[in-house]
Amino acid sequence: MHKWYHIIKSIVTKLLIIFLFLYLFEDALFSGKWKLTYISEGVDELEVKEFNILKSFKSPRTIDNLPNQIDLYEPSMLKSFGNMTIKSIKMRWNTGGVNYSYLISGTNKQGDVESVLIDPAEANEIIEELNNEELQSIQVIANTHHHYDHAGGNLAMIKYLIGLDSTRQLKLIVGSETKDSAISKYSKNVKLEVAKDGDSIAIADSSIDVKFIRTPCHTQDSVCYHVSNKDTKDTAIFTGDTLFTGGCGRFFEGTGQEMDAAINKKLTNFVPRDSLKHVKVFPGHEYTNSNIKFIRKRIYDKPGMNDALDKLERYMEINECSTGIFSLKDEMDYNPFMRIDDPIVRTAVGDKDASWTRAQVMDKLRIMKNSM
Ligand SMILES: [Zn+2]
Repeated sequence: MHKWYHIIKSIVTKLLIIFLFLYLFEDALFSGKWKLTYISEGVDELEVKEFNILKSFKSPRTIDNLPNQIDLYEPSMLKSFGNMTIKSIKMRWNTGGVNYSYLISGTNKQGDVESVLIDPAEANEIIEELNNEELQSIQVIANTHHHYDHAGGNLAMIKYLIGLDSTRQLKLIVGSETKDSAISKYSKNVKLEVAKDGDSIAIADSSIDVKFIRTPCHTQDSVCYHVSNKDTKDTAIFTGDTLFTGGCGRFFEGTGQEMDAAINKKLTNFVPRDSLKHVKVFPGHEYTNSNIKFIRKRIYDKPGMNDALDKLERYMEINECSTGIFSLKDEMDYNPFMRIDDPIVRTAVGDKDASWTRAQVMDKLRIMKNSM
Protein backbone atom coordinates (compact mmCIF):
# COMPACT_ATOMS: atom_id res chain seq x y z
CA MET A 1 0.00 0.00 0.00
CA HIS A 2 2.72 2.36 1.08
CA LYS A 3 4.83 1.49 -1.94
CA TRP A 4 1.97 2.18 -4.41
CA TYR A 5 1.26 5.51 -2.77
CA HIS A 6 4.83 6.60 -3.44
CA ILE A 7 4.82 5.37 -7.04
CA ILE A 8 1.57 7.21 -7.86
CA LYS A 9 2.73 10.34 -6.06
CA SER A 10 5.96 10.37 -8.04
CA ILE A 11 4.15 9.88 -11.40
CA VAL A 12 1.67 12.68 -10.66
CA THR A 13 4.46 15.03 -9.61
CA LYS A 14 6.41 14.32 -12.80
CA LEU A 15 3.35 14.87 -14.97
CA LEU A 16 2.67 18.18 -13.26
CA ILE A 17 6.24 19.33 -13.83
CA ILE A 18 6.07 18.34 -17.53
CA PHE A 19 2.75 20.13 -17.97
CA LEU A 20 4.04 23.27 -16.24
CA PHE A 21 7.17 23.22 -18.42
CA LEU A 22 5.09 22.91 -21.62
CA TYR A 23 2.72 25.63 -20.51
CA LEU A 24 5.50 28.11 -19.68
CA PHE A 25 7.64 27.44 -22.73
CA GLU A 26 4.90 26.80 -25.27
CA ASP A 27 5.78 29.71 -27.55
CA ALA A 28 9.43 28.72 -27.75
CA LEU A 29 8.72 25.02 -28.24
CA PHE A 30 5.84 25.23 -30.67
CA SER A 31 6.75 28.26 -32.71
CA GLY A 32 5.07 27.04 -35.86
CA LYS A 33 7.10 23.84 -36.07
CA TRP A 34 5.19 21.31 -34.03
CA LYS A 35 1.64 21.36 -35.15
CA LEU A 36 -1.08 18.79 -34.94
CA THR A 37 -2.60 18.38 -38.38
CA TYR A 38 -5.76 16.57 -39.18
CA ILE A 39 -8.53 16.51 -41.76
CA SER A 40 -11.76 18.23 -40.90
CA GLU A 41 -14.72 15.87 -40.80
CA GLY A 42 -17.11 18.51 -42.07
CA VAL A 43 -18.67 17.79 -45.45
CA ASP A 44 -18.34 21.37 -46.53
CA GLU A 45 -14.71 22.20 -46.77
CA LEU A 46 -12.73 19.03 -46.07
CA GLU A 47 -9.73 21.13 -45.38
CA VAL A 48 -6.57 20.26 -43.62
CA LYS A 49 -6.56 22.25 -40.45
CA GLU A 50 -3.63 23.03 -38.27
CA PHE A 51 -3.89 23.53 -34.58
CA ASN A 52 -1.24 24.49 -32.16
CA ILE A 53 -1.51 21.71 -29.60
CA LEU A 54 -1.32 23.85 -26.54
CA LYS A 55 -2.93 27.00 -27.86
CA SER A 56 -6.21 26.37 -26.10
CA PHE A 57 -4.57 26.38 -22.67
CA LYS A 58 -3.74 30.05 -22.95
CA SER A 59 -5.95 33.02 -23.54
CA PRO A 60 -3.84 35.79 -25.06
CA ARG A 61 -6.79 38.13 -25.45
CA THR A 62 -5.72 41.74 -25.70
CA ILE A 63 -7.13 44.43 -27.92
CA ASP A 64 -4.13 46.76 -27.88
CA ASN A 65 -3.18 46.17 -31.49
CA LEU A 66 -6.63 46.77 -32.98
CA PRO A 67 -6.57 50.18 -34.65
CA ASN A 68 -10.31 50.55 -35.04
CA GLN A 69 -11.63 48.88 -31.99
CA ILE A 70 -14.30 46.32 -32.78
CA ASP A 71 -16.67 45.13 -30.09
CA LEU A 72 -15.41 41.83 -28.75
CA TYR A 73 -17.80 39.02 -28.00
CA GLU A 74 -18.98 38.36 -24.52
CA PRO A 75 -17.84 34.90 -23.46
CA SER A 76 -21.44 33.69 -23.69
CA MET A 77 -21.47 34.40 -27.45
CA LEU A 78 -24.57 36.53 -26.98
CA LYS A 79 -25.26 39.48 -29.21
CA SER A 80 -28.10 41.97 -28.85
CA PHE A 81 -30.00 43.76 -31.60
CA GLY A 82 -32.45 45.96 -29.70
CA ASN A 83 -34.74 43.57 -27.82
CA MET A 84 -33.64 40.66 -30.00
CA THR A 85 -30.75 38.47 -28.89
CA ILE A 86 -28.72 36.01 -30.92
CA LYS A 87 -26.88 33.25 -29.14
CA SER A 88 -24.16 31.53 -31.17
CA ILE A 89 -23.68 27.90 -30.16
CA LYS A 90 -20.50 26.07 -31.14
CA MET A 91 -21.03 22.53 -32.38
CA ARG A 92 -18.62 19.83 -33.57
CA TRP A 93 -15.66 21.98 -32.51
CA ASN A 94 -13.80 18.86 -31.32
CA THR A 95 -14.16 17.07 -34.66
CA GLY A 96 -12.88 20.02 -36.69
CA GLY A 97 -16.35 20.61 -38.18
CA VAL A 98 -16.48 23.99 -36.37
CA ASN A 99 -20.22 24.40 -36.96
CA TYR A 100 -22.55 27.00 -35.48
CA SER A 101 -26.16 26.73 -34.42
CA TYR A 102 -28.00 29.94 -33.47
CA LEU A 103 -30.85 30.81 -31.15
CA ILE A 104 -32.69 34.02 -32.09
CA SER A 105 -34.93 35.25 -29.27
CA GLY A 106 -37.39 38.04 -28.55
CA THR A 107 -40.06 38.78 -25.96
CA ASN A 108 -43.79 38.92 -26.70
CA LYS A 109 -46.31 41.33 -25.12
CA GLN A 110 -47.02 38.90 -22.29
CA GLY A 111 -43.34 38.91 -21.41
CA ASP A 112 -42.67 35.37 -22.69
CA VAL A 113 -39.54 34.64 -24.71
CA GLU A 114 -40.02 33.16 -28.18
CA SER A 115 -37.19 31.79 -30.32
CA VAL A 116 -36.07 30.40 -33.64
CA LEU A 117 -33.30 27.78 -33.61
CA ILE A 118 -31.12 27.61 -36.72
CA ASP A 119 -29.38 24.36 -37.77
CA PRO A 120 -29.45 22.18 -34.63
CA ALA A 121 -26.99 19.58 -35.97
CA GLU A 122 -25.94 18.23 -32.57
CA ALA A 123 -28.84 18.24 -30.12
CA ASN A 124 -26.66 17.28 -27.14
CA GLU A 125 -24.30 20.20 -27.59
CA ILE A 126 -27.22 22.61 -27.97
CA ILE A 127 -29.13 21.34 -24.93
CA GLU A 128 -25.97 21.76 -22.86
CA GLU A 129 -25.67 25.42 -23.88
CA LEU A 130 -29.31 26.45 -23.35
CA ASN A 131 -31.06 27.09 -20.07
CA ASN A 132 -34.61 25.97 -19.34
CA GLU A 133 -36.23 29.23 -20.41
CA GLU A 134 -34.34 29.17 -23.72
CA LEU A 135 -35.34 25.56 -24.39
CA GLN A 136 -38.98 26.32 -23.58
CA SER A 137 -38.88 29.38 -25.86
CA ILE A 138 -38.12 27.48 -29.10
CA GLN A 139 -41.07 27.72 -31.50
CA VAL A 140 -39.33 27.29 -34.82
CA ILE A 141 -36.43 25.14 -36.04
CA ALA A 142 -35.00 26.30 -39.38
CA ASN A 143 -32.38 24.59 -41.57
CA THR A 144 -30.08 26.36 -44.01
CA HIS A 145 -29.75 23.14 -46.08
CA HIS A 146 -30.06 19.37 -45.76
CA HIS A 147 -26.43 18.38 -44.96
CA TYR A 148 -26.15 16.30 -41.78
CA ASP A 149 -23.86 18.78 -40.05
CA HIS A 150 -26.71 21.33 -40.22
CA ALA A 151 -29.98 19.38 -40.23
CA GLY A 152 -28.84 16.10 -38.68
CA GLY A 153 -30.11 16.94 -35.19
CA ASN A 154 -33.68 17.94 -36.12
CA LEU A 155 -35.24 14.71 -34.93
CA ALA A 156 -33.31 14.51 -31.65
CA MET A 157 -34.10 18.16 -30.88
CA ILE A 158 -37.82 17.70 -31.66
CA LYS A 159 -37.99 14.56 -29.51
CA TYR A 160 -36.29 16.34 -26.61
CA LEU A 161 -38.54 19.43 -26.79
CA ILE A 162 -41.73 17.36 -27.01
CA GLY A 163 -40.40 15.31 -24.09
CA LEU A 164 -40.36 18.52 -22.01
CA ASP A 165 -43.95 19.36 -22.98
CA SER A 166 -46.07 16.92 -24.98
CA THR A 167 -48.55 19.65 -26.00
CA ARG A 168 -45.99 21.97 -27.52
CA GLN A 169 -46.30 23.08 -31.14
CA LEU A 170 -43.22 23.53 -33.31
CA LYS A 171 -42.58 24.65 -36.84
CA LEU A 172 -39.79 23.03 -38.87
CA ILE A 173 -38.63 25.11 -41.83
CA VAL A 174 -36.51 23.32 -44.43
CA GLY A 175 -35.15 23.90 -47.92
CA SER A 176 -36.61 20.66 -49.30
CA GLU A 177 -39.08 18.01 -48.11
CA THR A 178 -37.42 15.75 -45.59
CA LYS A 179 -37.20 12.08 -46.38
CA ASP A 180 -36.97 11.38 -42.68
CA SER A 181 -40.20 9.51 -41.97
CA ALA A 182 -39.28 9.53 -38.27
CA ILE A 183 -40.14 13.24 -38.14
CA SER A 184 -43.58 12.64 -39.67
CA LYS A 185 -44.35 10.54 -36.58
CA TYR A 186 -44.51 13.86 -34.72
CA SER A 187 -46.93 15.54 -37.11
CA LYS A 188 -49.31 16.31 -34.20
CA ASN A 189 -46.65 18.60 -32.74
CA VAL A 190 -44.55 19.62 -35.75
CA LYS A 191 -45.69 21.58 -38.76
CA LEU A 192 -43.30 21.21 -41.69
CA GLU A 193 -42.79 24.13 -44.07
CA VAL A 194 -40.58 24.31 -47.15
CA ALA A 195 -39.07 27.82 -47.26
CA LYS A 196 -40.38 29.74 -50.26
CA ASP A 197 -38.17 32.51 -51.63
CA GLY A 198 -39.27 35.89 -50.27
CA ASP A 199 -41.69 34.46 -47.69
CA SER A 200 -41.22 35.19 -44.02
CA ILE A 201 -42.41 34.28 -40.55
CA ALA A 202 -42.65 36.45 -37.46
CA ILE A 203 -42.20 35.69 -33.77
CA ALA A 204 -42.60 37.63 -30.52
CA ASP A 205 -45.79 39.42 -31.58
CA SER A 206 -44.32 40.29 -34.96
CA SER A 207 -41.44 42.24 -33.40
CA ILE A 208 -38.96 39.85 -35.08
CA ASP A 209 -39.24 39.03 -38.76
CA VAL A 210 -37.45 36.09 -40.41
CA LYS A 211 -37.25 36.31 -44.19
CA PHE A 212 -36.32 33.37 -46.44
CA ILE A 213 -33.80 33.93 -49.25
CA ARG A 214 -33.20 30.91 -51.44
CA THR A 215 -29.58 30.66 -52.60
CA PRO A 216 -29.11 27.40 -54.56
CA CYS A 217 -25.52 26.28 -55.31
CA HIS A 218 -23.76 24.64 -52.34
CA THR A 219 -26.95 22.55 -52.31
CA GLN A 220 -30.06 23.17 -54.37
CA ASP A 221 -32.05 23.54 -51.15
CA SER A 222 -29.81 26.22 -49.58
CA VAL A 223 -31.74 28.95 -47.78
CA CYS A 224 -30.43 32.05 -46.00
CA TYR A 225 -32.49 33.66 -43.24
CA HIS A 226 -32.54 37.43 -42.82
CA VAL A 227 -33.69 38.39 -39.34
CA SER A 228 -34.75 41.92 -38.49
CA ASN A 229 -36.19 43.57 -35.47
CA LYS A 230 -38.30 46.73 -35.38
CA ASP A 231 -36.18 48.35 -32.64
CA THR A 232 -32.93 48.66 -34.51
CA LYS A 233 -31.49 49.06 -37.98
CA ASP A 234 -28.90 46.36 -37.28
CA THR A 235 -30.07 43.05 -38.73
CA ALA A 236 -28.62 39.55 -39.10
CA ILE A 237 -28.29 37.08 -41.92
CA PHE A 238 -27.79 33.35 -41.36
CA THR A 239 -25.98 32.08 -44.40
CA GLY A 240 -25.34 28.36 -43.70
CA ASP A 241 -22.74 27.07 -46.16
CA THR A 242 -23.53 29.65 -48.85
CA LEU A 243 -21.44 32.56 -47.52
CA PHE A 244 -18.60 32.37 -45.00
CA THR A 245 -16.57 35.22 -43.57
CA GLY A 246 -14.00 35.72 -46.33
CA GLY A 247 -15.24 32.82 -48.46
CA CYS A 248 -18.17 30.77 -49.73
CA GLY A 249 -19.33 27.16 -49.71
CA ARG A 250 -18.30 24.50 -52.21
CA PHE A 251 -20.45 24.16 -55.32
CA PHE A 252 -21.63 20.63 -54.50
CA GLU A 253 -24.94 20.88 -56.36
CA GLY A 254 -24.44 24.06 -58.38
CA THR A 255 -22.21 26.15 -60.63
CA GLY A 256 -20.13 29.30 -60.41
CA GLN A 257 -22.96 31.12 -62.13
CA GLU A 258 -25.36 30.04 -59.40
CA MET A 259 -22.98 31.06 -56.60
CA ASP A 260 -22.51 34.45 -58.27
CA ALA A 261 -26.29 34.88 -58.39
CA ALA A 262 -26.64 33.68 -54.77
CA ILE A 263 -24.07 35.84 -53.02
CA ASN A 264 -23.71 38.76 -55.42
CA LYS A 265 -27.35 39.28 -56.30
CA LYS A 266 -29.72 37.58 -53.86
CA LEU A 267 -27.69 38.43 -50.73
CA THR A 268 -26.88 41.99 -51.71
CA ASN A 269 -30.09 43.15 -53.36
CA PHE A 270 -32.71 42.38 -50.72
CA VAL A 271 -31.94 45.56 -48.75
CA PRO A 272 -30.86 48.99 -50.03
CA ARG A 273 -27.10 49.28 -50.68
CA ASP A 274 -26.48 51.64 -47.77
CA SER A 275 -28.11 49.15 -45.37
CA LEU A 276 -25.65 46.35 -46.14
CA LYS A 277 -23.29 47.67 -43.47
CA HIS A 278 -25.99 46.93 -40.89
CA VAL A 279 -26.51 43.29 -41.95
CA LYS A 280 -24.26 41.13 -39.74
CA VAL A 281 -23.22 37.76 -41.19
CA PHE A 282 -23.72 34.57 -39.15
CA PRO A 283 -22.32 31.67 -41.24
CA GLY A 284 -22.68 27.92 -40.67
CA HIS A 285 -18.98 27.36 -39.92
CA GLU A 286 -16.02 29.20 -38.42
CA TYR A 287 -13.74 29.04 -41.48
CA THR A 288 -12.41 32.60 -41.30
CA ASN A 289 -8.75 31.77 -40.59
CA SER A 290 -8.54 29.34 -43.48
CA ASN A 291 -10.21 31.85 -45.80
CA ILE A 292 -7.75 34.59 -44.79
CA LYS A 293 -4.87 32.19 -45.44
CA PHE A 294 -6.17 31.57 -48.98
CA ILE A 295 -6.71 35.26 -49.74
CA ARG A 296 -3.24 36.16 -48.44
CA LYS A 297 -1.57 33.43 -50.45
CA ARG A 298 -3.41 33.87 -53.74
CA ILE A 299 -5.16 37.27 -53.97
CA TYR A 300 -4.18 40.20 -51.73
CA ASP A 301 -0.77 38.88 -50.80
CA LYS A 302 0.56 41.90 -48.95
CA PRO A 303 -0.85 44.01 -46.10
CA GLY A 304 -1.93 47.40 -47.47
CA MET A 305 -3.52 45.92 -50.62
CA ASN A 306 -6.94 45.63 -49.02
CA ASP A 307 -7.61 47.59 -45.82
CA ALA A 308 -10.74 45.62 -44.93
CA LEU A 309 -8.77 42.37 -45.12
CA ASP A 310 -6.01 43.82 -42.92
CA LYS A 311 -8.66 44.66 -40.34
CA LEU A 312 -10.22 41.18 -40.51
CA GLU A 313 -6.80 39.59 -40.18
CA ARG A 314 -5.96 41.65 -37.09
CA TYR A 315 -9.31 40.75 -35.57
CA MET A 316 -8.64 37.03 -36.05
CA GLU A 317 -5.17 37.31 -34.53
CA ILE A 318 -6.79 37.79 -31.14
CA ASN A 319 -10.24 36.22 -31.50
CA GLU A 320 -11.39 32.68 -32.09
CA CYS A 321 -14.88 33.45 -33.45
CA SER A 322 -15.82 35.97 -36.12
CA THR A 323 -19.51 35.13 -36.44
CA GLY A 324 -21.88 38.08 -36.16
CA ILE A 325 -19.04 40.64 -36.11
CA PHE A 326 -18.71 41.50 -39.80
CA SER A 327 -21.37 42.80 -42.18
CA LEU A 328 -22.34 42.09 -45.78
CA LYS A 329 -20.64 45.39 -46.65
CA ASP A 330 -17.41 44.13 -45.02
CA GLU A 331 -17.69 40.92 -47.08
CA MET A 332 -18.01 42.98 -50.26
CA ASP A 333 -14.80 44.75 -49.25
CA TYR A 334 -12.54 41.72 -48.59
CA ASN A 335 -14.23 38.51 -49.79
CA PRO A 336 -12.81 37.69 -53.28
CA PHE A 337 -15.96 35.68 -54.15
CA MET A 338 -17.85 38.98 -53.81
CA ARG A 339 -15.21 40.98 -55.69
CA ILE A 340 -15.36 39.18 -59.01
CA ASP A 341 -14.68 42.33 -61.04
CA ASP A 342 -11.75 43.59 -58.94
CA PRO A 343 -8.72 43.72 -61.31
CA ILE A 344 -6.56 42.14 -58.57
CA VAL A 345 -8.96 39.18 -58.34
CA ARG A 346 -9.13 38.90 -62.16
CA THR A 347 -5.33 38.89 -62.38
CA ALA A 348 -5.06 36.30 -59.62
CA VAL A 349 -7.28 33.83 -61.50
CA GLY A 350 -5.33 34.40 -64.75
CA ASP A 351 -7.67 36.87 -66.48
CA LYS A 352 -5.38 39.88 -66.86
CA ASP A 353 -7.36 41.50 -69.69
CA ALA A 354 -10.70 41.03 -67.91
CA SER A 355 -12.24 39.03 -70.74
CA TRP A 356 -13.72 36.16 -68.71
CA THR A 357 -17.35 35.95 -67.65
CA ARG A 358 -18.14 36.41 -63.96
CA ALA A 359 -19.09 32.72 -63.77
CA GLN A 360 -15.67 31.71 -65.12
CA VAL A 361 -13.90 33.84 -62.50
CA MET A 362 -16.10 32.34 -59.77
CA ASP A 363 -15.40 28.77 -60.93
CA LYS A 364 -11.63 29.38 -61.06
CA LEU A 365 -11.58 31.00 -57.61
CA ARG A 366 -13.36 27.96 -56.19
CA ILE A 367 -10.90 25.56 -57.86
CA MET A 368 -7.99 27.57 -56.44
CA LYS A 369 -9.49 27.49 -52.96
CA ASN A 370 -10.25 23.75 -53.17
CA SER A 371 -6.66 22.98 -54.05
CA MET A 372 -5.25 24.67 -50.97
ZN1 LIG B 1 -23.15 21.97 -46.31
